Amino acid sequence: MPQAPPEIEVVSAWRVACDGGEGALGHPRVWLSIAPLTGQVECGYCGKCFIHQDFADDAEKAR
Ligand SMILES: [Zn+2]
Repeated sequence: MPQAPPEIEVVSAWRVACDGGEGALGHPRVWLSIAPLTGQVECGYCGKCFIHQDFADDAEKAR
């Protein structure tokens, strides 16, 4: 069994807002720009990874 990955959200926009959700991971809302080359960006506050839908399939294979 592969190790559980950090929280990942597939999104359709190249700019996403993250506030960490509710509870211990909550943080001030920040806007993140997904890197066009990798299709991914990681939130510096909570470590949540956002993947653009165009790259979601590749990310799944790489795991
Ligand atoms: Zn976050």
